[in-house]
Amino acid sequence: MVTKSTSKRAKKFVFGLKSDRQIDGDKMNSNFIKKVIAEGGDGAAIAACMQCGTCSGGCTNIDLMDMSPRTLILRIQRGEWETVLNSNALWMCSSCYICTSRCPRGVRPSDVIEAVKAIAIRQGIENDSTRFNQIFVDLVQKRGILFEPELMQKYGGLQGLIDQAPLGIKLTLKGKMSPFPDKVKDPKQFNAALEKAKKQ
Ligand code: SF4
Ligand code: SF4
Repeated sequence: MVTKSTSKRAKKFVFGLKSDRQIDGDKMNSNFIKKVIAEGGDGAAIAACMQCGTCSGGCTNIDLMDMSPRTLILRIQRGEWETVLNSNALWMCSSCYICTSRCPRGVRPSDVIEAVKAIAIRQGIENDSTRFNQIFVDLVQKRGILFEPELMQKYGGLQGLIDQAPLGIKLTLKGKMSPFPDKVKDPKQFNAALEKAKKQ
């Protein structure tokens, strides 16, 4: 099936010439690469990417992304800041780490994506995914454990709650979801861990 995002990704040939080929090390944007590495991608060998595409070949969510992990790394090498920060691939990535485990060059695309996401949030990039993330974080901070119906209601309003109700009922009947808000066993310990995470 050719989805909207896959057809967008297919635009890599210009007049028969491949436009997203590997670039030489001296043409890479070292400032951008350093920025991403400093943000938490310190184990990521971004400059070592040879554009083999192994990461994209195994990516579990590639059909939902406007650019593959391989292309994302290339754009980071080129310093195409705005395109990278606005890519939906940042938010469609499920952090499954398949790309990282298969990359023959130690690029660690999943860590790179996490690092770029943090930069995007700090730069005020806003979309449905950032809104969802923020609501998710707020609710986990509030009671320590997510109460899914509350997440649905905050994110999608009453209609969101109604739309997800059949799935919620199924999950509850199978014991996969509590019908009532839960609490962490040791809120003090949870809050201490949260504070520690915020400082990192
Ligand atoms: S698998 Fe690694 S080297 Fe190959 S394209 Fe992906 S990030 Fe680059
Ligand atoms: S971690 Fe993200 S980019 Fe890597 S394979 Fe999984 S979904 Fe794709």
